[in-house]
Amino acid sequence: MTLNEVRKRFLEFYKARGHAVIPSARLVPENDPTTLFTGSGMQPLVPYLLGAVHPQGRRLADAQKSFRAEDIDEVGDNRHTTFFEMLGNWSLGDYFKTEQLPWVFEFLTGDNAKGGIGLDPARLYVTVFAGDEATGIPADEESAAIWKRLFAEKGITAEYVALGSEENGSARGMQGGRIFSYDVKKNWWSRAGVPANMPAGEPGGPDSEVFYEFASVTHDPKFGAYCHPNCDCGRFLEIGNSVFMEYKKNEDGSFEKLAQRNVDFGGGLERIAAASIDDNDMFAIDVFREMAAALPAGGDTRKMRIILDHLRGSVFLIGDGILPSNKGQGYMLRKLLRRAALFSDALKPEEGWLDKMVGTVSSYYKEQYPDLDARRDEIAKAITEEFRKFGATVKEGLKEFARRAAGGSVTGKDAFDLYQSYGFPWELTEEIATERGISVDRKEFEAEFTKHRDLSRTASAGVFKGGLADASAETTRLHTAHHLLLRALQTVLGSGVKQRGSNITAERLRLDFSYDGGKLTEEEKREVERIVNEKIREDLPVIRSEMSREKAETLGAEHEFGQKYPERVSVYSVGPKDATTADPKFEDAFSIEFCGGPHVTHTGEIAGEFRIAKEEAVSAGIRRIRGVIAPRA
Ligand SMILES: [Zn+2]
Ligand SMILES: [Zn+2]
Repeated sequence: MTLNEVRKRFLEFYKARGHAVIPSARLVPENDPTTLFTGSGMQPLVPYLLGAVHPQGRRLADAQKSFRAEDIDEVGDNRHTTFFEMLGNWSLGDYFKTEQLPWVFEFLTGDNAKGGIGLDPARLYVTVFAGDEATGIPADEESAAIWKRLFAEKGITAEYVALGSEENGSARGMQGGRIFSYDVKKNWWSRAGVPANMPAGEPGGPDSEVFYEFASVTHDPKFGAYCHPNCDCGRFLEIGNSVFMEYKKNEDGSFEKLAQRNVDFGGGLERIAAASIDDNDMFAIDVFREMAAALPAGGDTRKMRIILDHLRGSVFLIGDGILPSNKGQGYMLRKLLRRAALFSDALKPEEGWLDKMVGTVSSYYKEQYPDLDARRDEIAKAITEEFRKFGATVKEGLKEFARRAAGGSVTGKDAFDLYQSYGFPWELTEEIATERGISVDRKEFEAEFTKHRDLSRTASAGVFKGGLADASAETTRLHTAHHLLLRALQTVLGSGVKQRGSNITAERLRLDFSYDGGKLTEEEKREVERIVNEKIREDLPVIRSEMSREKAETLGAEHEFGQKYPERVSVYSVGPKDATTADPKFEDAFSIEFCGGPHVTHTGEIAGEFRIAKEEAVSAGIRRIRGVIAPRA
């Protein structure tokens, strides 16, 4: 089955079961400084899983564009990709295990003709939570019983095997089982990880994974004496995970059931597509095959996969407004493009291959992501330009290599420096070195590489754990100040001012906006600050309302250029003084914005003096302001 077909079937399946299909959030998270990219379907929905009311209701489904930068160096094998789509469905205090698990099973094994994927149930294996003695959380027997019944309905006797841990799995094997229980390390979800690490008040719960078995793969003992679903040999592929948020940690470390229980399902679209064609090579799915037509057949498989993954990811990143640069998201995009450029050189593709491949991606996804097709030329131009720049950098890098090699040898550290500064992967350095008849210490290079990667992994694990949507008091205050700032800018500079981008951390806010008048004068900046501070002092109510997108547009609510919004939206208005949730008095509001929040309830809680710390140009017609809240003198 094609990737597009699997996605379509998933969304239709859940729509038919009362779910609102919501658009994918962008790859760059909104107002979330803790992570560079949206890496899962859950990420943009965390506020709602924590209790905020979602304007689209209690049943949601989507296909979320996701990017995992930390996997970039693993790409090249048969299963890793940086970009992927995650299929998701959510129950926000609505249905629970007895609906969710049968739906997962029905979707995956359902008849092709009736909208299912048609996987052979005999190839599916599932896992459930084994329980945790330390905290007294019981095993998830309810999920195990549901799975047993579902398999029985297909004529399969599903034995339950309590493995407890991965180590037990590789020591004992499957023992003829189909339903396996694993401990907190494998089958427990919370933002902080295992139950012992969760702070008081934090929600979490057991999860239940579904694995597809590739019968063509035999277990490799290098991964353990025996095979089991969580074995890394490639025989089993996790294709979906249902998280059941049902517990809350108490002050005394005990756990109690939550009043609102949620379901969060995430399933890798590419993985389900690969299972549907029973091929354990992710790059065998149709979109990659179509892209690969632009490259000469019979090239090195690893290089081909890197090019396919990196170019597809680049098209999506540029489509979401990122351009190659030397920091943040732009740096990751640059890295993808440079690696793609380098590996494609080795394959010697025909003239025009790059435009062709980029065009294939844009057309392939045009139904789901029309922007990619509409902006096809712009995307192709950005990619071609970066390839050209890289050509020049490679020349520089070769000079540097020659300088270091002049002494007759190149150390592993040199090789790593070339990788860091010029983007030379190991293969390229080795190839130059071989031409000159000198050797490079690969072990030393790998040691440097691993050291560096572990550092960046720790950093990314840290930011992920630190809260997907950072709702600290500081960020919330700055977010409300951000709304006041946008309105103040429009008051001072005119209604041509529109938001073009935003980013808020606990320390400062950043607002990009359209304005053709060039640099702001000192007087203009002082006037903008004065207005924002006046509104803070007036202690205006900040009110959240839900309405149709159309109504919000009629009210003139501000929204970010190029953003897509669902049918029902959440809107925040600031003021007037006597506005209430029941009667928000939009016509007299100081500011109205499409926004998911969170915000302070009254502007006075911003509690400080707003200051413009910096004002600069981002590009033609786009200015950027960084603002801070200073304690009042
Ligand atoms: Zn195995
Ligand atoms: Zn906002």
